[in-house]
Amino acid sequence: MPQNTAKELHVPVSGLTGLHQKLVAGLTASGVSGAELSELFGRDVTAICVKCGMTVSGEELATVALAASAEALSEPKLARLRQGYCGRNGSDSNYYTVQLAANPQVDWDRVLLGPAEPAPEPETAPPIEEELAAGAARERARRHRWWRIGVGVAALLILLVIRHAMEGVRIPLLQPKMEYRTSAPVQVE
Ligand SMILES: [Zn+2]
Repeated sequence: MPQNTAKELHVPVSGLTGLHQKLVAGLTASGVSGAELSELFGRDVTAICVKCGMTVSGEELATVALAASAEALSEPKLARLRQGYCGRNGSDSNYYTVQLAANPQVDWDRVLLGPAEPAPEPETAPPIEEELAAGAARERARRHRWWRIGVGVAALLILLVIRHAMEGVRIPLLQPKMEYRTSAPVQVE
């Protein structure tokens, strides 16, 4: 695959400052020093209006991107660019073509990708067999629990029935509560 070839990008005028930041970050990450950076921008980066053909140098692009605001730029061309318009008064273009010249030291594709980020850790999921086995074990445990509860309830009922047969004790929920009423006290004259 050919590397370090020239590259052309179509960028909205309002995206030129963002592209400058991206280039600076990418170039810095690939080992380009501050002094080399301005030289590289002046020589290898050019932006051209797609409608009127106005040329903006890499240095001008840097000036636009680094200015605190459009008002801080005394040159009308640069102030207009900072506001998101073509630098030429009267040009209603929304796009510039940014040309990145071939440079043996710079791989533009890599620079535009930005600083390399550490690859995310792959998700470690347990194998499907383990999941299925765990699910089956849970189901067995659930059934076993219900079976034990059923046996417990049955044993309790049997005990109550036996006790009832032997002592005549009321079975809660199965037999109505007996109510004892005392007769009114006898009045003695
Ligand atoms: Zn233009």
